[in-house]
This record gives sequence, C-alpha cells and structure tokens, in this order.
Amino acid sequence: MSPDARPPQTAAGHRSSPEPPAFDPAVTPGPSADTGLPFAAAEAVIASASSIGLVCHVNPDPDALGSLLALHNALVQQDRPVTSSFPRPFKLSKGLAWLPGAGEIVHPEHFPETVDVLVTFDAADLERLHEFKHHADHASTLVVIDHHRTNLGFGHVNLVDPDAASSGNVVAALLRHMDVKITPAIATCLYAALAADTGRFSFRADASTLSYAAWLVDCGADSSRVAEEIWGSAPLGALRLLGEVLVRAEFESDISLVSSYVTNMDLVSHGVDRSDTEDYVENLRMAVEAEVACLYRELPDGHVKVSLRGRGRIDLGAMAARHGGGGHHDAAGFTTGSFGHARACVTGSLAPLASPSPSATSPAPGIVRGPCDT
Ligand code: 5GP
Ligand code: MN
Repeated sequence: MSPDARPPQTAAGHRSSPEPPAFDPAVTPGPSADTGLPFAAAEAVIASASSIGLVCHVNPDPDALGSLLALHNALVQQDRPVTSSFPRPFKLSKGLAWLPGAGEIVHPEHFPETVDVLVTFDAADLERLHEFKHHADHASTLVVIDHHRTNLGFGHVNLVDPDAASSGNVVAALLRHMDVKITPAIATCLYAALAADTGRFSFRADASTLSYAAWLVDCGADSSRVAEEIWGSAPLGALRLLGEVLVRAEFESDISLVSSYVTNMDLVSHGVDRSDTEDYVENLRMAVEAEVACLYRELPDGHVKVSLRGRGRIDLGAMAARHGGGGHHDAAGFTTGSFGHARACVTGSLAPLASPSPSATSPAPGIVRGPCDT
C-alpha cells in the first residue's frame, strides 16, 4: 500500500475512533474468559483491597512489563490505591521505558513494606521476583498472573493459563471481567506483551491471537510505536557489540548448538547497558544449522545468565528447570556460577538428546573459542 492509501492515523499512530469497542463476546474477538480461571475471585480481592502492589519478574521483558502496566493503568483509571515496581537492577531498556504508565513505576526502595493484595506478572516462581519474594510472603492476598507451564500456582488466587499467548492475554481477560474500559494506553501495553511473546506474531499466531491483536489496535494500541521502539531501534554501541557476538558464535554440530557470549568487559568497551542485550539471543536463534541457540551473559557479580532458544524438538523449559531456571518449551533460561559451569550445564544436557548424525564429532571449522570453554 502506498503511504497515501493508508487509513487516517492520529498523532499517536492509531486509528481515530470515538470510543474503543466494548467487549461483546458475541462480536468482539478479544481474550476468552472461559478458561475456568478464578477471575471473579481476583476481581473481588482487588476491589476490596486497601492497598494493591503490582510486581513483575526481574529484567522485565515486554510481556512482564506490558501486562503489569495494563493492570496498573486500569487501576489508576479507577482511582484505586496501586503501587507498581520490579526488582533491582531497576533499569528498563530504552525500548520499554516509554510504555504508558512506566514513569509511575517506583523503585523497590519506595515500595510499601506490606500491601493488602500483591499481584505478580509473568513470573513462573517466587525466585523470579527477587526482593519482592519477601512482599509475596507477607501480602494478605497474593494473586499470580502468568502463562508459564511450569508455574505451579504459588498464590492464593492463581490466574495461570499455559495456553495463553502472553501474560497480557490473562490480564486482558481479567480486565474484561472487571468491565474496564480498554483505553489506547492499556491496549498499547497489552499489544506489546502479545507481540513480544508471539515473536512478533511468528509463533502462537493463530486466528484468535491475530484477531485479539486486531481488536487491541481497534482499541487504540499504537502498534507502529511498539514495533519501532522495542525492535526497530537500538544504540549504535549495542549494534556493534551484537556484531561481535555473532562473529564469535560457535556451532557444535554434534549437539546442534549455536552459542555465543557477552562479558562485562564487552559492555564497558562498547558503552552498552546490559538491558540492551536482552534480544541478542534471537539473532543467534536464526542460525538454520542449529536446533538450539544459547547466549551466555556475564552478570555484574560474575554469575552467568543463560538464555536458550529452540526450534521445537527439545523442551528447553524443562532443561532450564533442571538447572534452577525455567521458561517455555522454546525459550528458557537459568543463572549459574561461571561461564565454564554454564557451558557444562548446556552441553551436558544436550548431549543425551542429540540426534545421531554421521559428522557429529567436531565443531564447525573457524569457530572462535571464548570464555565458556572449561
Ligand atoms: P530470557 O532468555 O529471555 O531471559 O528468558 C526466556 C524465558 O525463560 C522467559 O519466559 C523467562 O521468563 C524464562 N526464564 C529466564 N530465566 C529464568 C529463570 O532464571 N527462572 C525461570 N523460572 N524462568 C526463566
Ligand atoms: Mn511471558
């Protein structure tokens, strides 16, 4: 379509419509609330709470932050006493800091010691909440909103739907239950959550996901800004470092693994913030030769964060869980003590699962060995 043929857009980039379409199960796509989840119980505890805290997992991704902010914006809209935060390092990548309501998120230091109702987002277990585990332990009521299959329901009220494309879908179903007006701000947060957790509509992108996305855009979600800010822009230093990370990628044909790493020195020498390296593993995942992509990233304390991505044959969530982490079938992670140990965990877990292959003995020629070698 030529630019002139595009439908009229508002300054915010969405179609102007007088009123966002209301939820009407007969005609509106939107999220299904027929999951058997206790939405009524969640609505009731939130409605009667004298203080509500919202927290998501450490290093929020667009689903964690977008699902949190969707409910945050809805509660602010209803004049409810809400405080939102996420664990240290209290840092959002530039790509997320613009999401509506992000400026109202408080540092963990300013989060109330106790809240009546604490709601967690996109965290499969209490450990993912870091310092907010304490608050979860002490909240009168804990509401858990998530879509990880490994989430065993650690709250008093558990809105956990492993079939939901994003945690945002679960929030959308809750908002529908609460009869909340879906403003452009809320729709944008939910759209960011959905777009991220479907790999920008590359997986779980069935008809219901796509019609839900279309409905969010109809409600005013700024889909162009989500695409541009989250995936369409990065500091030059982060792009240069990504180039290095890709150049030193190593392929091990025997276990069908492509891997690379980021050290603390890399961040310093390129002037890059760690939060700008969250998506590097997605680039590694593109290597068609490998079933599994793995990125090892050094943390400030010397521990190593392992990010795993797959192509369907291996359950990486289960694999990461064996090393103290978790995640989804094709996207998972864990943290361990050193590059050497991280690498041993990954290669040791993949070796027994390797498909037999005639040339499965040595890594590809030309690989550059890095700090992950023991
Ligand atoms: P990423 O590699 O992008 O950090 O995470 C990919 C997926 O694995 C996400 O769904 C994330 O929530 C999950 N994940 C990553 N690290 C951990 C971890 O240490 N523990 C658990 N339970 N899940 C993790
Ligand atoms: Mn998620």
